[in-house]
Amino acid sequence: MLTDLHTHLRPDEEGTPASEYFTAANAQRYREAADEGGISELGVSEHIHRFSQALEVWTHPWWRQNAHDDLDAYCAFVREETDLRLGIEADFVPGREDRMANLLDEREWDYVIGSVHFLRDEAVDMRGSDWDIWRSADPEKVWGRYFETLGEAARSGLYDVLAHPDLVKVWGDDAPAPGGDLRRFYELAMDGIADSDVAIEVSTAGLRKPAGEIYPARAFLELCLEAGRPVALSSDAHVPEDLGHAYDRVVEWLGEIGVTKLAVFDRRERRLEPLG
Ligand SMILES: [Zn+2]
Ligand SMILES: [Zn+2]
Repeated sequence: MLTDLHTHLRPDEEGTPASEYFTAANAQRYREAADEGGISELGVSEHIHRFSQALEVWTHPWWRQNAHDDLDAYCAFVREETDLRLGIEADFVPGREDRMANLLDEREWDYVIGSVHFLRDEAVDMRGSDWDIWRSADPEKVWGRYFETLGEAARSGLYDVLAHPDLVKVWGDDAPAPGGDLRRFYELAMDGIADSDVAIEVSTAGLRKPAGEIYPARAFLELCLEAGRPVALSSDAHVPEDLGHAYDRVVEWLGEIGVTKLAVFDRRERRLEPLG
């Protein structure tokens, strides 16, 4: 089987209100795209920062700008008007684990996808914005902090899946990786990942970004597999056209690495299904 669990029903830009995108007809467009790609396990995982309840967890100015929608209305919509799995993409905010746990535990997700986009107040994936970490920071330090934080996210136990695990490479040559063997960074996350029960997302989104690579790098995925972690496959599509993006390529790649099963989730219970 094939899965696409980390998807969004709308682009990230402003002017994409829930009223326009959280509709049965829009969900149906995703279902049809999944059917065409042979993807049987389909779910949505909207960004938590677009819901007003996220401000109970963190009040970063960018979250304040984006937190318009009602989280419970989203959950009710997915459960009652679609046949999609109900997920959420929730940032890891160090120091706010209890608040995030409260917010998550009050709702019945099929799965929770954990992301590291921010390191303190700055983001690794918001090039050119007020919050762009790359304007001033040294790549060696950013990469170190990113993978330390990723390990903490895994260890927190808040998440079923760790999203785009080496997102820090997103900009490719526009924010180049430090030199040398990058495993010295991956190792910073590995204790937390090995001690956790989290699934590792393999995401084709990196192929659509300047990085031009699958998340995570093969060497990082191999460390996670050695640690016994299962794989969750997604495209991180924000439009139906990107659903299952480059899956032919990623399925072949996973085969080369020896991955034979994919994680699927039902009410936060994980099981593994044969890949393909
Ligand atoms: Zn993300
Ligand atoms: Zn996403």
